Amino acid sequence: MVVSVTGATGFIGRRLVQKLLSDNHKVHVLTRSRAKAQLVFSADNFPKLVIAEEREWEQSINGSNAVVNLAGMPISTRWSPEIKKEIKRSRINATSKVVDIINNAKLDLRPSVLVSATAIGYYGTSETLVFDENSRSGNDYLSEVCREWEAKALEVDNDVRLALIRIGVVLGKDGGALAKMIPLFMMFAGGPLGTGRQWFSWIHLDDVVNLIYEAVRNPSYKGVINGTAPNPVRLSEMCEQLGQVVGRPSWLPVPEFALKAVLGEGASVVLEGQKVLPLKAKELGFSYKYPYVKDALEAIMREP
Ligand code: NDP
Repeated sequence: MVVSVTGATGFIGRRLVQKLLSDNHKVHVLTRSRAKAQLVFSADNFPKLVIAEEREWEQSINGSNAVVNLAGMPISTRWSPEIKKEIKRSRINATSKVVDIINNAKLDLRPSVLVSATAIGYYGTSETLVFDENSRSGNDYLSEVCREWEAKALEVDNDVRLALIRIGVVLGKDGGALAKMIPLFMMFAGGPLGTGRQWFSWIHLDDVVNLIYEAVRNPSYKGVINGTAPNPVRLSEMCEQLGQVVGRPSWLPVPEFALKAVLGEGASVVLEGQKVLPLKAKELGFSYKYPYVKDALEAIMREP
C-alpha cells in the first residue's frame, strides 16, 4: 500500500510512519519542510519513504491508496488572537488542500480512503456529562475549531471512505502533553491539579496509531470514531498514577500556574476535560494494547 501522511513529522505521525514502514508499506511524507523531514526520518528508510513539500503534495496523493491527515499547529501554546487563528487556519488549510487534491484526482489515481484527525475538544468540556460519537458539539473555541476542521474533511467526494478520528489526550514519551507534564511532576509532586474531578480521556500513542492504521485498512472504519481508551479517568487519578510511576508522592499538588506555564492555554484540555467513550471502536472490535492508564504510564516509563 502507498500511504500519504500530512503531519507525518509530528508526535503521532512519526510513530505511524514507523509502523507503516515496518509493515512494508510505502509512505509519502507530506510536509512543509523537506529539511525538517530529513532530520526526523533516517536515510535508512529511503526509498520506501518519499518526502514531498507542499508543491509536490498533488503528485504524491495521486496514486496513493490512502491519505492520513494529521497536520496542525500545536495547541499547547499561549493563545494570542493570532495564534488562535493559526491553530484553526493550519488545520483547515491542510485539510482543504488534501480534500481538493483528492476530489480533483482522476478516478484511477484517487485514494480510496481519507483518515483525518480531529479531537475530543469537539464535545466541549464537562465534569458530569459522558460523550460518545453521537453526542453534540460543545460551544467553546476548541469545539468550533473541530467542527470546522471536520466540515472541511466531510467535503471529500462520497466515493472516498472517510474516517474522522476524534483523538483524546495522547500519552507517549516523546511528545504531547505527557512529555511536558513529567518534568513538572519531577519538580513538584504527583498531586492533583485543581479539584482533580475533571475528566481525562487519554489514549496511548501505540493505540491511536493502531486505530489510525486499522482505519486505513479496514473498510468498516468510517465516519466519526473516538480515538480514546475505554477507561477514561478523573484527573486526580491520572495525577496519582503518574506520581506513582515517576516516583513522586501524590499529596502535594502540582500548581495550576505551573501547568499553564508549560502548556499555555492548551492546558485547558487537561484542566477542564471531558469524559469520552470509544463506542465505535468497541463496536468495530478494536483491540487496545493499553485499556488502563496505569499500564499505559508504566509502559511509557519503561521506554528507552
Ligand atoms: P504535532 O504537533 O506533533 O505535529 C503536527 C504536524 O503538523 C507537525 O509535525 C507539522 O508537520 C504540522 N504543522 C505544525 N504546525 C503547522 C502549521 N502552522 N501549519 C501546517 N502544518 C503544521 O501533532 P500530533 O502528532 O500531536 O497530532 C497530530 C494531529 O492530531 C494534530 O492535528 C492534533 O491536533 C491532533 N490531536 C493530537 C492530540 C495529542 O494529544 N497529540 C490530541 C487530539 C488531537 P510539518 O512541519 O512536517 O509540515
